Amino acid sequence: MGSAFPSLAALQTALRQGELSSAELVETCLRRIASRDATLRAFLWVDAAGARRAAREADARLEEARRTGETASLPPLLGIPLAVKDVLAVKGMPATAGSRILEGFVPPYTATAVERLQTAGAIVLGKTNTDEFAMGSSTENSAWGVTRNPWNPERVPGGSSGGSAAAVAGGLVPAALGTDTGGSVRQPASYCGLTGLKPTYGRVSRYGLIAYGSSLDTVGVLSRSAEDAALLLSLMAGRDRQDATSASLPVPAPRLEGDVRGLRIGLPREYFIAGIQPEVRAAVSAALEVFASLGADVVPVSLPHTEYALPVYYLIAPAEASANLARFDGVRYGVREPADTMWEVFTRTRGVRFGAEVKRRIMLGTYALSAGYYEAYYGQAQKVRTLIRGDFEAAFTQVDLLAAPVAPTTAFRIGEHTADPLAMYLEDIFTITANLAGIPALAFPVGFDGQNLPIGMQLMGPHFGEAALLRAAHAYQRATDWHLRLPPLEDAGREAGDG
Ligand code: GLN
Repeated sequence: MGSAFPSLAALQTALRQGELSSAELVETCLRRIASRDATLRAFLWVDAAGARRAAREADARLEEARRTGETASLPPLLGIPLAVKDVLAVKGMPATAGSRILEGFVPPYTATAVERLQTAGAIVLGKTNTDEFAMGSSTENSAWGVTRNPWNPERVPGGSSGGSAAAVAGGLVPAALGTDTGGSVRQPASYCGLTGLKPTYGRVSRYGLIAYGSSLDTVGVLSRSAEDAALLLSLMAGRDRQDATSASLPVPAPRLEGDVRGLRIGLPREYFIAGIQPEVRAAVSAALEVFASLGADVVPVSLPHTEYALPVYYLIAPAEASANLARFDGVRYGVREPADTMWEVFTRTRGVRFGAEVKRRIMLGTYALSAGYYEAYYGQAQKVRTLIRGDFEAAFTQVDLLAAPVAPTTAFRIGEHTADPLAMYLEDIFTITANLAGIPALAFPVGFDGQNLPIGMQLMGPHFGEAALLRAAHAYQRATDWHLRLPPLEDAGREAGDG
C-alpha cells in the first residue's frame, strides 16, 4: 500500500475481494504510528493488541463470506481501523479529554457514535490528543503535550481535534472522529488539508461524549474526502434513546449523486473581512470560481449579526462548561488529590489537575452565570444567539448553501498565540456561528499558501442539510485534486520503506 490510504469505499472493496487483509491494514497503521507519531504525537493511546485481535476476527468473517459468496451483506466498515478523539468514551480504553483530572479514568461504556461504527465493523485503533476538554484551537492546551501538523511540524494542527486531524493527515489511520463545539473539527481539517464534517446539532448522538458546551457540542468526522465523511455520517447518525436531543429524522444516504448545477451558494459579506490572510481569501475565491464553472450560482448575502458571534460564543460556551465541569471533583471520576477534608479534596484536585485554559473558562462561565449577572450576560447572549440563528434562517430562504473561509489564517506556529487567549479565540471567528445556529458545516481543502500549508473553505447548510453540503463538496473534489495532496512527512515515511 502506498503512503496514503485509499478511500473507505476502496478499502471495503479491497478487503472483500481479498486483495488486502484487515491484519495488513492494522499493521500498516501501527508501523506508521511507530515511525511518525514520535514527532506528530497524534495518539494518546494505541490499542495494538485489541486492534490485532479485531483484525483477525474481521479477516475470518471476510474469508468466510468470500467462501460463501456473501460479502455484499457484510457490515460496510468491516476490518477498517479508525481513531477516536479522547473526549469520546470507548469501553476499556482510557478517556482523559486531554486533562490530568481524568488521568486513569477508563469508561465502562462506549459513546453511541463510536459504537455504531464498531457495529458497522470499524476497529478503534486508539484515542487521539485534544485540547483539554476540547477548549482550544491548536491542541496546545492538552495536558499530554502538543500535537504537530504533518505539513510542517513547527505548526499547530489546529484544535481541539488536532490529534485526529494529524492522525489522518499524517497517514496513520484512514479517518477519525472529532468533536466540534465552535470549530474543532473544521479548523483542524483546514489546517491539515482534510475534509471535516460538523453535523447539525442533534444529528449524531452525544451520548458518551465528555460534555463541553452542551448546546453547541457535535460529534464529527475528519476524513480525506466528502465521500468518506458521507459514509461515516450515514452510519453514526440518527435517533439514540440515550440522548434526548438526538433527532429522529431520516439519516442521509452515503451516496453522493448529483451535481451543483443551479445550486445557489451565498457569500456572506461579513465573512470576507480585513485581517484574512490574502492567500486564504484568494484560494476561497478560486474555489468559488470552480463552483461557478460547475454550474452553481454564487450570490452575495448578508448575515448582519455576525460581529456578535465571538462574544456570544465566549459567554455561552464557558457558562455551559463551568456547569459541565463541576462533576470533576476528585470523587466521581479519575484521580483524587489527597487532603484532610472533603472540601479540600475538591479544591486541591481541581486546583492541581485542571490546566490554565480550563480554569479561565470555569471562572468566566461562573461569573457570567452568577446571581445579578445572569440576565446581563448569559441571558443577553442567548437572545443574540437567536438573532444569529435568524440571520441563517433568512439567508437560507434566498440560497441553498453558504460559503466562507474556515479560519482567517493557515496553521500558525506552535506557541504563536499561547500568551494571548484573545488572539487564539479570533481563529474561531468563522466557525462558531454554525454551532450557535446548530446548522451543519463542511470544511475541505481548496489550496495552499506560500509556505505549503493547506487552506480550507467551508460550506454551511440549513438544519439537517448535510446531504447537500456533502454533494457539493464531492462535486468540487471530483473536479479538483487539493484533497489528494500529501504532506512531505508521508513521502519521508515512504522513502523509509513504509508500506
Ligand atoms: N476553539 C473553540 C473553543 O476553544 C472551539 C473548540 C471546539 O470546537 N471544541 O472553545
